[in-house]
Amino acid sequence: MGTLYLVATPIGNLEDMSPRAIRILREARLIAAEDTRHTRQLLTHFDIHTPLTSYYEHNKLTKQDAILAALSQGDVALVSDAGTPAINDPGYELVKAALDANHPVSPIPGPSAPIAALAASGLPTESFLYLGYLPRKTSERKTLFEQVGQFPYTLIFLESPHRVLDALTDMEAFLGDREVVAARELTKIYEQFVRGPISQVKAHFTENEPRGEFVLIVSGQPSVSDQQWTEIQLLAAIQASLQSGKKSKEIAAELAETSGWNKKEIYALVTRAK
Ligand code: SAM
Repeated sequence: MGTLYLVATPIGNLEDMSPRAIRILREARLIAAEDTRHTRQLLTHFDIHTPLTSYYEHNKLTKQDAILAALSQGDVALVSDAGTPAINDPGYELVKAALDANHPVSPIPGPSAPIAALAASGLPTESFLYLGYLPRKTSERKTLFEQVGQFPYTLIFLESPHRVLDALTDMEAFLGDREVVAARELTKIYEQFVRGPISQVKAHFTENEPRGEFVLIVSGQPSVSDQQWTEIQLLAAIQASLQSGKKSKEIAAELAETSGWNKKEIYALVTRAK
C-alpha cells in the first residue's frame, strides 16, 4: 500500500529544498509533476532519477487512475512547479482519491509563498484567511471584499503583477485604506516587501511597475475594542459619566477598558471637562 507524498519544492531559491524532500523524491516509485519539463530541471539539479509523469490542472482527473495504480505498487510523490502541492496547485482531488482508496497521504513540508509572505509581513498572524487568487473583474472583487471586509482576520491573496494596481485600487475602495503588504519575489534576488496603507503601496507601484510574483497581505477589520476613540468621542462619554454622578477615578478606570486611552490620559480629560 503505497503512500502519496506531497513534496514542497522551492519558490525561487534552490537552497530551500529539504534533504527529506530530496530523499523522498529519490525513493518514490513515481513522481507526478505539474510540469514535467520544469520539474526535470529540479531533479537534474539534485541528481534524482525517479520516473516522472504529468499531473496538471487539465489532465488531473484522467490521470488519477494511473496514479492510483502506481500507488498500489509503491510510493508516489506529487510536486507542483513551486511551493506546496494542493495549495492553489493541483493536488486536492488526488489527495481525496488516495484517501478514498485507503492510501496514506503524507506531507513533506517546505516552502509556500502565502505562508512565507504572511510570516514576514508584520501583520497579525494569529488568525488569517487565505483566499488564493483575487478574481479578475472589479465587480467580482467588490463582491469578495464585501463578503470578507468585516472579518477581523488578516487576508492573504495571490495576484499576478499586471493586476496588482487594479487589485490595490479596489482594496482601497472596498476595504478602506488599511495596512497592506505586497510581498514580491520571495526568496529570490529581488525579494521585496512594500508595507504601508493601501494608498501608499499603490503610489509605490504606480511609480515602480509591478514585476515578478506577488502575494498581497491585508490587515483584517480592526475589532471595535482595538480602535482608539477620538478625543471628541471620549469627551462625550466623560460628560455622560459625569452627569450620571460618577467619580473621576471610576470614569478613568471604566473608559480605559473600552476607549483605547489610558487611565492617566482620561483622568486629565475628566479634570478638564469638570
Ligand atoms: N502552491 C504554491 C505555494 O505553496 O507557494 C502556490 C502556487 S500559485 C499557482 C503561484 C502563485 O504564488 C504566484 O502567482 C504568486 O502569486 C505566488 N508566488 C509563488 N512564488 C512566489 C514568490 N517567490 N514570491 C511571491 N509570490 C509567489
